[in-house]
Amino acid sequence: MGSPLIRLRGITREYPSGEGVLRVLKDIDLDIAQGEFVAVMGASGSGKSTLMNILGCLDRPSSGSYLLDGREVAQRDPGELAALRRETFGFIFQRYHLLSEMTALGNVEVPAIYRGLPREARRARARDLLDRLGLGDRLGHRPGQLSGGQQQRVSIARALVNDARVILADEPTGALDSRSGDEVLAILERLNAEGRTVIIVTHDPKVAARARRVVEIADGRIIADRRSDAPAEPARLAALPPARATAPVLGRLAEALRMAVLAMRAHKLRSFLTMLGIIIGIASVVSVVALGEGSRQRVLQNIAGLGTNTLQIYPGRDFGDMRSGRVTTLVTADGAALARQPHVASVSP
Ligand code: ADP
Ligand code: MG
Repeated sequence: MGSPLIRLRGITREYPSGEGVLRVLKDIDLDIAQGEFVAVMGASGSGKSTLMNILGCLDRPSSGSYLLDGREVAQRDPGELAALRRETFGFIFQRYHLLSEMTALGNVEVPAIYRGLPREARRARARDLLDRLGLGDRLGHRPGQLSGGQQQRVSIARALVNDARVILADEPTGALDSRSGDEVLAILERLNAEGRTVIIVTHDPKVAARARRVVEIADGRIIADRRSDAPAEPARLAALPPARATAPVLGRLAEALRMAVLAMRAHKLRSFLTMLGIIIGIASVVSVVALGEGSRQRVLQNIAGLGTNTLQIYPGRDFGDMRSGRVTTLVTADGAALARQPHVASVSP
């Protein structure tokens, strides 16, 4: 056999805490082959979600090696990592993480938009997936109008829209009643039977019992790794048509705009606060400029009022010269002489 799908060696994850560090994962070694159904089990706070985030390339280990398809994840560039998160992995969360402003169909379409799948193709695929998950009559419903189990099925459809090979489910039944939880598990089993690798995090032994392999984790270490039977033959996946990277630029722009508006509507308070910041910024710049311009005009007006262009000539040496009354050299003829100067507009003696 070649290299497994996933190979972790000596993975650690540390968070800074106070002066020291908090070691959440300690020296994790784990191999997962294509087509396995693995349950990661452990108490709350044992590091399960941290491990899942590293597996899904949502987080990076502090040290250790993570080979995916035989290639080191740490050496891939950000674009490759984004493509992995978008196309290789499908994420399912305990709290669904659906966009409340969008319909079920819209939510399922989102990853395909980022992948650049043409509108018609992704709509058809999203509809088909929701149909297969028993939500064919709920396409136009928003998450708030769906039950928890239905919302989780929408999020499973979203995880599948880009034909993910690996499904990562973090406590997918944690917020569900036991019947909806059973439905979700049955769907995951079906996906596994189709040949997808399914990794599910749970603290519920009944849920873990459905998996063919249980990895137990306690305090950041793997303490047990049991298999209930041999891994099934990896089946072939029904591949999606490759995304047309050459979707028309204008179409992509319109799509980006649509996503931007949706994101703003989904985060109303944040958008309002951002706008408020911009408004305050622009208002203060405008008022400072207006204040400056206004006072400049005012000063100019005052100076003009004093008469910068009017000269008054008195006899004597300076203003208030006591002897000026006795000076008689300034005569009416001087006025006429001044009036003859080219730069003098008028003279009044
Ligand atoms: P589980 O999913 O098994 O309940 P987690 O992987 O979420 O546990 O968390 C494991 C431990 O790591 C917890 O003690 C948690 O407080 C800590 N932890 C998780 N994320 C962070 C973080 N971003 N910063 C600091 N500590 C964290
Ligand atoms: Mg968790």
